[in-house]
Amino acid sequence: MSDIIQLLPDHVANQIAAGEVVQRPASVVKELLENAIDANATEIKLIVKDAGKTLVQVIDNGKGMSVTDARLSFERHATSKIRAAEDLFQLSTKGFRGEALASIAAIAHVELKTKQEDNDLGTVLVIEGSEVKSQDVSVTPTGTSVAVKHLFFNIPARRNFLKSDTVELRHITDEFHRVALAHPNIAFSFYHNGSDLFNVPQGNYRQRVVHIFGTKTNEKLVPVEEETEVLKISGFVGKPEYSKKTKSEQYFFVNQRFIKSPYLNHAIKSAFEGLLKDGYHPSYFLNLTVDPKSIDINIHPTKTEIKFDDEHTLYAILRSAVKHSLGQFNIAPILDFEQQNGFDTPYDFKNKSAAAPSIEVDRSFNPFSDDSPEHPVKRSYNAEGFKSAPAASWESLYVGLESKGNNTHSDFSEVTFESDSKNESIFSDSTIETTKTTFQLQQKYIVSTIKSGMLIIDQNRAHQRILYENFLKHITIQEATSQQLLFPLQLHFTPNEVKIIEDLKANLEHTGFVFSELNKKEVKITGVPVGVPESEVSIILEQLISDVENDVPDTNFSTSDLLAKSMAKSLAIKNGQSLNSTEQEHMVNSLFACKEPNVSPTNRPTFITMAVDDIEKKFM
Ligand code: ADP
Ligand code: MG
Repeated sequence: MSDIIQLLPDHVANQIAAGEVVQRPASVVKELLENAIDANATEIKLIVKDAGKTLVQVIDNGKGMSVTDARLSFERHATSKIRAAEDLFQLSTKGFRGEALASIAAIAHVELKTKQEDNDLGTVLVIEGSEVKSQDVSVTPTGTSVAVKHLFFNIPARRNFLKSDTVELRHITDEFHRVALAHPNIAFSFYHNGSDLFNVPQGNYRQRVVHIFGTKTNEKLVPVEEETEVLKISGFVGKPEYSKKTKSEQYFFVNQRFIKSPYLNHAIKSAFEGLLKDGYHPSYFLNLTVDPKSIDINIHPTKTEIKFDDEHTLYAILRSAVKHSLGQFNIAPILDFEQQNGFDTPYDFKNKSAAAPSIEVDRSFNPFSDDSPEHPVKRSYNAEGFKSAPAASWESLYVGLESKGNNTHSDFSEVTFESDSKNESIFSDSTIETTKTTFQLQQKYIVSTIKSGMLIIDQNRAHQRILYENFLKHITIQEATSQQLLFPLQLHFTPNEVKIIEDLKANLEHTGFVFSELNKKEVKITGVPVGVPESEVSIILEQLISDVENDVPDTNFSTSDLLAKSMAKSLAIKNGQSLNSTEQEHMVNSLFACKEPNVSPTNRPTFITMAVDDIEKKFM
């Protein structure tokens, strides 16, 4: 048989390499920014159009390239940064594999302009799909500009695979943050579709963090400094009370390179132990300096993973340094764990008349009708959640409330035995005369009786369902009422977060929010949905941002869905909150008036039932 193995042509090899190095426009941003840093630039400009799908351009004032180097830089394995394998262990540059430019040029239209300081004229080079289209002399400032257009023009599958502009821009912004945070001594600017998203001057590390994440970050930062023989640590951790629901503010840099390390992340988390609420993550911006010989960067094509020689030692040092800082800056634990005041006993009938004061008139109330709700009260946190009238469909299931009007005895009167159909109250004490038909268990469940037995409702999930359907309705029919704030509420966000709010603005307005201003750093709110307390607004928006970051919606439909879910989650009454009997009943009514009462917005059961038959079996 004849030989069948061949060497791949360069442009094919480059395309294959590109598959690893260039996953999306953000990868191009990373590679170009790193090249500019390696060229000792002090000022770097990033210009992006259509989230990088149309253009990614990086302009630097670094050392530039000679005519020959300009041409060579696009060859595979062409690098000025290492010469021998030993150099891999002495790296002080970002790049070293010499494949970024070759890979990018294989799958895009690239225009390179570059000039070295000593030369009067520079070079302009155009390459499309690995093919050199032109090379000329050019009048251009010292430094380099690389413009990458029409990424993946020759790989439609990859191009189609790209996410919405919002998502791609977020990836780009993430890369920008990482590079800009690692190099506070370099000035960066970042433009998207003509508007400037960031403009950060040279400064110290604290200034850089604050420039990127907003002025309010300053007060959150606790410095961490430590120097040992094997490791130098500098940077900041966020005070525990400013911890976030997302992991978006977690940055490790090793020798000025952003890395991901679940192991070291764990070291920080354990230093924060006992200081964070459940589901919250510490913020950190930490620079680790180690001997380049003690790490291997070359284990991943995008170089975001590193192998350390002695991870255990690093873990211990890091953990104790962070602990020390938190202690030294007197960060007392600020905890407000939800209180559980024990069993909310149904026997406490003395309290039965202590219903919340009526603050809203129920217009549908008819004193002559038997089935009117007795207590049309509504608490402000309900956010209209309890307004809906119970639908007929659930009444067959839920009979507990009906008995109210008839003044039957206690809660347990409904639990009857087949042999004894006309029931006696378990509590024969005539002083216990109640209309109460629901009770709360552990301030978490609402328990009531139904024809077949017992009904146990998870109060938080049930309320989420009620609010969710309500918000969704408002968003879809676009007719929410909002309550005007006396003083506009001014909230600070990072530009990235503002972008997310901007994208959701229309939907938010349909729920009742009124924005008077939305600019790069702040959001001014003059109206909020009826029933939403002012103090909850920032929590709602933060939750929303974190939900969007974790599950970015691409379609309009899912945006409103996500918004409704997120707001329902923020506003639903929590476990541990006690509800009076009226509130419990409203909750039950409203839940069963929902279209899908059985499950929470995240598809978990809102209630369970327990049949008398099953209860009986337990007594056998
Ligand atoms: P690597 O960075 O791994 O060396 P690249 O493909 O990214 O590989 O770049 C190839 C070479 O091109 C670099 O080693 C460098 O010499 C040169 N180069 C790339 N970008 C720039 C720039 N912005 N300024 C000066 N030289 C550059
Ligand atoms: Mg490079």
